[in-house]
Amino acid sequence: MKREKFKVKSSNFNDWNEIFKNPERISVKSFITGYVKINKRGTLNPKHPNAGNIEDESLNVPILVHWIHHHKFGDYLVDAGLDSSYYQNPHGEMKGLFAGLFKKLGLGDTYFQEKNQDIAYHIKKNSIKLNGVFLSHLHSDHMTGARDLPKNIPYVVGMGEKYFEHKPLFYGDYLKGIEVLYEIDFLNAPNMPILGPCADIFGDGSFWAIKTPGHTRGHISFLINCIDGPVLLTTDACFIRLGFEKGIASSSYTDDVEMAQASLNNLVEFKRVYPQVKVCPGHEL
Ligand SMILES: [Zn+2]
Repeated sequence: MKREKFKVKSSNFNDWNEIFKNPERISVKSFITGYVKINKRGTLNPKHPNAGNIEDESLNVPILVHWIHHHKFGDYLVDAGLDSSYYQNPHGEMKGLFAGLFKKLGLGDTYFQEKNQDIAYHIKKNSIKLNGVFLSHLHSDHMTGARDLPKNIPYVVGMGEKYFEHKPLFYGDYLKGIEVLYEIDFLNAPNMPILGPCADIFGDGSFWAIKTPGHTRGHISFLINCIDGPVLLTTDACFIRLGFEKGIASSSYTDDVEMAQASLNNLVEFKRVYPQVKVCPGHEL
């Protein structure tokens, strides 16, 4: 898989108030493609000064995909969720010399999926004509669905986002068949108030990728400027609503806790200054 730069369009906008006054006919609908168990301790960093006592409690949270429909540019996804291999098999389709052993020992990622929850089902049911997929980051719960999606469309991540496959021992071939992975280079993107570097994907202020590193190095969040109000998809810059309300980022599964906290601080400040923004955390509807 080659990596190439995603062409960031020049934007006419540099002021959020101006952007929110000029919404586009763009919509966002979220799908649940399965569930994953996470621990509340770590979903919220227990060492954060405002953490108080965060219980050691297992949370069953949805694995989300967001369908973006633009009246002119068509259908896109934010994240790919789970493919159908997780229905009745919490390990999904894993390959490699140690795949069997890993399953037996209960290692690796385990997800839960009901019938007709996989991403291909949602695509078909909604007659989505997919033009591209934006992946917030390359953790398996956000990308295994790519195995069931068309490959002749652009797949886009943040610059420097790492892709791990432990070949030949244990791997999922999640992005197999994708020839080029496009990377958003935020160096060329406008530096927007509060949020910093943001890429105006369609160049009309309707769909923005926001640089929110920390959970992973190239992690991105998204803003959709809908007619009935802007929607912020934090993706895994914040897993659950409580994290956003308390302003506490994750420490579990997170590459750089300090950087993740700084990214979440920006998103929280953004919501404070623009209260009309609806917030959708990474793993809560
Ligand atoms: Zn996640």
